[in-house]
Amino acid sequence: MGTRDDVLRELGLAPRWRLRARGDTAAPALDNAERSRVESPRIESDGGATRVERIARLPFDDLVEDIACCRACSLGASRTCAVPGVGTLGATWMFVGEAPGAEEDARGEPFVGAAGKLLDNMLAALGLSRESDVFIVNVLKCRPPGNRAPAPAEVDACRPYLDRQIELVAPSVIVALGKSAACTLLGVDAPVGSLRRRVHRYAGRPLVVTYHPAYLLRTPADKAKAWEDLLFARKTMHEARAAPS
Ligand code: URA
Repeated sequence: MGTRDDVLRELGLAPRWRLRARGDTAAPALDNAERSRVESPRIESDGGATRVERIARLPFDDLVEDIACCRACSLGASRTCAVPGVGTLGATWMFVGEAPGAEEDARGEPFVGAAGKLLDNMLAALGLSRESDVFIVNVLKCRPPGNRAPAPAEVDACRPYLDRQIELVAPSVIVALGKSAACTLLGVDAPVGSLRRRVHRYAGRPLVVTYHPAYLLRTPADKAKAWEDLLFARKTMHEARAAPS
């Protein structure tokens, strides 16, 4: 038997999920995935509820556990680590990407590669960080082999997790990063250029579209447009917070 970390890695739970309480920048995250999964690898059918219904009721910690053990599509067998997301429960901003890449799959955290560094810089320009008022997720929680595009069946299998995350985090604005995330969430097939600079809605919340950081690495000339989009998202966020609920 290896160390506790070996066991967690074997279960696809390491490295750990990070969740920070709002305003708590110093304390380590709730390592909820690490906490109870080894003792209790469960969460199966529940009184006849469908999988979607069951996920829609999961509290946050159980949701993370469920993602870590998910086998609803074939990606569950090929992943190294599931990538549930990172951020602050109750965050004002939610950023949604497409799917984990190789580095994210290895580390269990979204946007940790080169594109992630650019995303961090974009957040910093807004006075934000993944330790502050932000929640970062992907449409898919597991890496598609070879970084191929998500298959529709994989998106369908994973969407209940994203929807529950949105419900639990309750962001004031959702920022879709790139065409794949935007088109998946909006149910359209359109270029990013035609979707940006407008307030869309997803799950009853304002959603704005901008370029994916990986695209911006390839096309730095469009970084200025992405910055406009983030300022537009900030304005949208302020308006949403000011609106009577
Ligand atoms: N691209 C994404 O869409 N998500 C990640 O987590 C990393 C790269």
